[in-house]
Amino acid sequence: MILIKNGNLIDPGRGMNQVADLVIDEGKITQLGKGIPIVIVSAAKQPLVIDATGWAVCPGFIDLHCHLREPGFEEKETIATGTKAAAAGGFVAVCCMANTNPPIDNRAMVEWVKQKAAEEGIVHVFPIGCVTKGRSGKEVCDMAELAEAGVVAFSDDGAPVVSSQVMHRALEYSCALGLPIVDHCEDRRLSNGGVVNEGWVSTKLGLRGIPASAEEMIVARDLALAKLANARIHIAHVSTCGSVELIRRAKEEGILVTAEVTPHHLTLTEERIMGKDWGKGNNVIASGAKQSQYDTNAKVNPPLRTEDDITCLIEGLKNGVLDAIATDHAPHTLADKDCGLEMAAFGISGFETAFGALMGLVHKGEIGLVTLISKLTCEPARIVGKGGELGMLKVGSPANITIFDPDREWVVDSSKFASKGKNTPFDGCKFKGKVMATIVDGEVVYMDDFLGSHYAQISSPLTGED
Ligand SMILES: [Zn+2]
Repeated sequence: MILIKNGNLIDPGRGMNQVADLVIDEGKITQLGKGIPIVIVSAAKQPLVIDATGWAVCPGFIDLHCHLREPGFEEKETIATGTKAAAAGGFVAVCCMANTNPPIDNRAMVEWVKQKAAEEGIVHVFPIGCVTKGRSGKEVCDMAELAEAGVVAFSDDGAPVVSSQVMHRALEYSCALGLPIVDHCEDRRLSNGGVVNEGWVSTKLGLRGIPASAEEMIVARDLALAKLANARIHIAHVSTCGSVELIRRAKEEGILVTAEVTPHHLTLTEERIMGKDWGKGNNVIASGAKQSQYDTNAKVNPPLRTEDDITCLIEGLKNGVLDAIATDHAPHTLADKDCGLEMAAFGISGFETAFGALMGLVHKGEIGLVTLISKLTCEPARIVGKGGELGMLKVGSPANITIFDPDREWVVDSSKFASKGKNTPFDGCKFKGKVMATIVDGEVVYMDDFLGSHYAQISSPLTGED
């Protein structure tokens, strides 16, 4: 039994935002209300009392897009380390992409991931199945079999579905199955081995650029195909003004589109790859943070864009064009990143910095706290059809909860990450806003060190009572 006292209970989907207590028993939320007394039934069943005064208590975060790397790339991450990192970031559930080796393109692979997650994972893991066999872009998977096995969406992420004909067929199948296709929108003939955003930074560094239109052309194509098939399309990691505008118009037209944006695209600009300027000043570099000529940890696909793009992305979140925030957690080994910009792997290890980075936007007044929470809870739950069980604080529902201190300051230290991937452009950044505890089905799967010691103090008067 867990009693969370005096927290600010925020449940955007149900319009709740009030200071109250919350009781968890046998994996479920059993009581919500003010002044719930501490009841000790027996010594064996002592309640864990968390004093959440000044903190927020909300539905557990749900990540629509991450790479757990297992099987095939266990040197980068495993389901065990990845879900531990997710818990530390406040996530109670993650949707893992299919670009493993072998890829998740058949029933046996879905079952393998689910089994492994049940044995070694500490948060819910929802597999995403491939769109095409072997992610080759040629032949559509047996999507009905994947759906039966329990995938929540289909994606060849890491790569776009290049053939419009294949995409059209896949959308027709996914429509019949009631699941979305998540597309990584990139015209590879245009991005053509690019490294950074095409703009002044690519010119200055003499690097091949990835233009905004490389993303926007495929977004436009996908929207047209979704309309044709009357199917659901979910646009992964939107990064440009043009994409936001295309999605806005498609939604107005009634096309079944949803979209996500990452914390790094909301907070960092293309300049960050030069090893300075943390992007829009949302984050402060703590003293002693490492500076260098360039930083491969800021190399990500789609690339970090411009201040104007950030303005559009934030506006898109606020007006509902962008439905959710997803980390695109992409852990890599040191060797994958410890090389020149052209050779370095794309991706950011994002679970453990997502919330801190996003709270910078709240503290700067760019986005409201309740809106931010909705983009991490009820909105992603709705997109993957988990709205009935996740993303809300409701008596009787499974206790999947994130507790955070909106004002706690901390400095990112990647060497302390639970993730194997230490590849973050936020290393050394000072954030304001920290996850204090993550609860999955009534079990505390992550507790901040401060809360751990605090809890010991609070619970000590109870010790020895019966
Ligand atoms: Zn992608």
